[in-house]
Amino acid sequence: MSDQLVRGRLVVTRWGAQSRAIEKGALHVDGGIVTEVGPFDELRRRHPAAEEVGDGTHLVMPGFVNSHSHGRGITTLRQGIPDDPGEVRSVGLRIGLSGDPYWDVLYTCARQLEAGITATMHLDTNYGYGPLDVYEKRLRDVITAYDDSGMRSAVTLALRDSSMDDPYLEDAFLASLSAEIRAEIEGWRRPLLGLDDYLALYDRLHQQFPAAKLQLEPAAVGACADDFLRDVRKAASARGAGLQLHLSETAYSKLYSLKRFGKSTVQRLADVGFLCSDVSCAHCVWLTERDIGIMRETGAMVVHNPSSNLRLRSGLAPVRSMAEADVHIALGTDNLTLNDDEDILQETRLAQLLHSPPGIGETPIPAQTALQWATQGGAKVLGIEGLGSLEPGSPADLVMAHNRSFDRAVFESGHDMAASVMHWVRQSDIDQVLVGGQIMVRDGRYVFRDREELKRKAYEGHRQWMLTPATRLLRSQIGERYASQDFEGQPFYRLNSRVD
Ligand SMILES: [Zn+2]
Repeated sequence: MSDQLVRGRLVVTRWGAQSRAIEKGALHVDGGIVTEVGPFDELRRRHPAAEEVGDGTHLVMPGFVNSHSHGRGITTLRQGIPDDPGEVRSVGLRIGLSGDPYWDVLYTCARQLEAGITATMHLDTNYGYGPLDVYEKRLRDVITAYDDSGMRSAVTLALRDSSMDDPYLEDAFLASLSAEIRAEIEGWRRPLLGLDDYLALYDRLHQQFPAAKLQLEPAAVGACADDFLRDVRKAASARGAGLQLHLSETAYSKLYSLKRFGKSTVQRLADVGFLCSDVSCAHCVWLTERDIGIMRETGAMVVHNPSSNLRLRSGLAPVRSMAEADVHIALGTDNLTLNDDEDILQETRLAQLLHSPPGIGETPIPAQTALQWATQGGAKVLGIEGLGSLEPGSPADLVMAHNRSFDRAVFESGHDMAASVMHWVRQSDIDQVLVGGQIMVRDGRYVFRDREELKRKAYEGHRQWMLTPATRLLRSQIGERYASQDFEGQPFYRLNSRVD
C-alpha cells in the first residue's frame, strides 16, 4: 500500500496514562503501519506525495478492540433465544445457533467495524464437538470469514472434556425423564473429540492459515478435569498459543466449584498451573478477594463484559477492585450489548460509570482508563503488538469521527478530552474506520464488501429458535434446581446499604 497521511483536527495516539493528542495532527502510514506522528503541516512537507485521508476536521483515535465475542452477526436475541441467566439460557443454545458461520461472522464484522471495533476476539464456545470434519469445516469457515472481512481477529478452538455443559444434567436426572424427552436430549449429544484430535486440528489450521491468530479455549471449565486443564496448558505453551475461557460468570458456577472441588475455579486453575500472563478470562463476575490476588500474581487477564453481565443477570463484576489490584483489564461486547448491537463506545461508557462509586471522596474510574481498557487492553488478549494505539510501529487501525459537542467542549472550553469522548461521541458520529490503512467504513457504513449481500446471506442461513418439549421442560427444571440452592452470603445484588 502506498504511503498515506491521515489528518485530524485532533489525533489521539493512545489512551491511558501516556495519552497524547495532537491538534491539527496527522499520522504518516506506510504499508498499513504508522511510521510517524506529528503536526500535519510538518508531515506534509516531509511526505509531499502521500495520499491524504480526511480533511482535517475529524477526531482521529485508535480503533477499539473487542476482547470477547462469539462471531454472532445475528444475535441470540434476534434468533429468538431470550436473555436468561446462563444456566437456563444454555439449554436454548444447544439447539440454536444454526446459521452459516461464514456469513454470520462476516455480518458481525460489518457491525463491529461500523461501531469502531477494528479487532475482535472470537470464542467458538458453543461448538468444539465432533465429528471432527464438521468442526474443522466450521473453523475454516470462521477464520476465512474474518480474513475476508478486513477486520483483525484472534479465533479460539473450543476444547471439551464433557459432552453436556450443565453439570446438573447427570444420568440419574436424565433417567427420571420420559422416553420421548430423553430421546430429544440424547439427540443433542454430539461426539466428544480427544485432546490429540483437537491439537492435530489446531496444527492443521495453523499450517493452512499461518497469519491467523489461533488460541485455545477449555469450554465449560467447571466440567473439565484437572488433568485435562494441565494438558491444555502444556499444549498452549508448546505452541505459543494464548488461552481464553469463561470464568466465574454466574453465582451458580462459583457455588458448583466450591461444592465439587472445595475451592474456587480461579484457585483450581492456579493449582494446576493453568493461569499465566497469556490467559484471558471473560466475565469474572464472582471472583473473591483471594481470586483477585491470584489473578494479579499470575498475570492472568480479565475481560469485562458489563452489558452481557446485566442482560443475563450474572451480576456486577468487581472491576474496581481488580483495577486497584493492577489486574490487566480489557473490554468485550459478548455480542450482548445493551442495544443488542456492537456499540463499544457505549460499552466503555457503561464500564466507566458502573465502577465509579458514590461519595464525594471517591474517585471515579477515569475516562482515560476505561478507553484504555477498550483499546490497548485488547492487544495482550489478542496477542497482537501495537494494537489499540497509533504510534510508530502500530497498525494503522483507527476511527475518524465528527461531533460538534466534543469540538465545542475541547477546542472552545478546554474540557478534558477523554471525558468529552465519553460524554458525547457516539457510534452515529463515526465517519470512517481504517484497518491497516485500508478504509473499511465510509459515511458510517461498511464498504469493504457488499454489506446488504452479507446481511441477506446471514439471515438466509438462520432458522428461528423455538421451544421444544425437552427445552421447555429442562429450562424450568434446571431453573428450579438452581433456584433452590442456598444463596446465603452470595447476594446477586447488594450495591447500597439498606440499613435503617
Ligand atoms: Zn461469552
